[in-house]
Amino acid sequence: MTTARIDIARERLKRCIAEEEARFRAAHPRSEALHRRAQRSLLAGVPMNWMVRWAGPFPLFVADGAGAHFSDVDGRRYLDLCLGDTGAMTGHAPPAAVAAISDRAGRGVTFMLPTEDAVWVGEELQRRFGLPYWQMTLTATDANRFVLRLARAITRRPKVVVFNWCYHGTVDEAFATLGPDGTTQARPGNMGPACDPAQTTRVVEFNDLAGLEAALAPGDVACVLAEPAMTNIGIIHPEPGYLPALRETTRRTGTVLVLDETHTICAGPAGMTGEHRLTPDMLVLGKPLAAGVPAAAYGLSEEMAARVHASSSVELSDTSGIGGTLAGNALSLAAMRATLEHVLTPAAYERTIPLAERFAVGVEGVIREKQLPWIVKRLGCRAEYWFRPTPPRNGGEAAAAVDPDLDRYMHLAALNRGILMTPFHNMALIAPDVTEADIDRHTAAFRESVEALLGS
Ligand code: PMP
Repeated sequence: MTTARIDIARERLKRCIAEEEARFRAAHPRSEALHRRAQRSLLAGVPMNWMVRWAGPFPLFVADGAGAHFSDVDGRRYLDLCLGDTGAMTGHAPPAAVAAISDRAGRGVTFMLPTEDAVWVGEELQRRFGLPYWQMTLTATDANRFVLRLARAITRRPKVVVFNWCYHGTVDEAFATLGPDGTTQARPGNMGPACDPAQTTRVVEFNDLAGLEAALAPGDVACVLAEPAMTNIGIIHPEPGYLPALRETTRRTGTVLVLDETHTICAGPAGMTGEHRLTPDMLVLGKPLAAGVPAAAYGLSEEMAARVHASSSVELSDTSGIGGTLAGNALSLAAMRATLEHVLTPAAYERTIPLAERFAVGVEGVIREKQLPWIVKRLGCRAEYWFRPTPPRNGGEAAAAVDPDLDRYMHLAALNRGILMTPFHNMALIAPDVTEADIDRHTAAFRESVEALLGS
């Protein structure tokens, strides 16, 4: 139970949600009509199941996007602070990526053969992240699946350690949480798992070194799959000394350390690895790498690469469980090259991080003024507000603060005021062409939503 749950009058919240839903419905007749039509051909009326989770009676149908804005089929324009949940962190349709994508699309998209762009991208990822060898996949989920296989193959150990309430994509081993008795159990909603995740996985809390030591002590853990700061149950920063200790403990116990920087790439051009000089054994990237074109990558240290090499055979490489016909395709690589060279540059972060700070300061000001027991957290160009008075230390504490009704209201109220927030939590991501006026517009919308909720 959160403090906010105690403080916010639930009846009033329900009324506010109903008002926002009515307003949303009235403003989006075309989206509603498309959603109704889609019921007859798409399961639940959407092309992918989680799209029914948007706040609102039906999802918006998008027409066009450019930079940090997009328009829907009803002709309404939005500031996009969701940015495809990081897939469009570059902003929509950045011109340099569009040019490279158009050019490559006209010259052939997929060959099952490498292009020169692949070499350029490998060299650039090496330069940024300090890991010498790279492979490309289509999604971060795939990259995570493959690094787990590699870690098990080279260590000949069966288990994986993840953090409580982590998310690494639809990766079977990561769909596990800590049960009330401290044992590993299936995450709620885990559909049709191949086996009980307790067989494959040990879950520990983030920032809990004793828990990590205990999980690794039996010597049967192939790897720790970790975000260097948690981002999927909200932002949770590592406590001072935690990341170096994670590195030391994994190294001492012969456990592979995989850092998944798919979201934490918001911290800087080389993610938290670059910002904090981290030295993972393997590293995963995805989502924004190719300005929204499906593309992801994983990197290996010299030692990991040598061990992988020693435990694989060329003859069996197409049936190793690692691959994908379209992985490493020419289009993805052309888009990755253009994105890394011209879009996800240090200059972009110099713009977006101060804007995220402005977002945080603005929202904090309203929280203080209204004496709400809420806080704001930020990581690079990502910021979010929380319905609890203190920062959570770990996923368990964070999950206890989730308030779906309040989330729903805040998201829908923002949407009705022309701002798209990341669904599932109250997160804003800042694209390079956001302006200070855009941020201030969010602050004003946040204030208005809060005032309606408080009746002030
Ligand atoms: N890793 C992290 C940290 C993520 O947040 C996500 C998706 N939210 C993924 C991996 C998976 O990315 P995708 O769904 O693009 O495969």
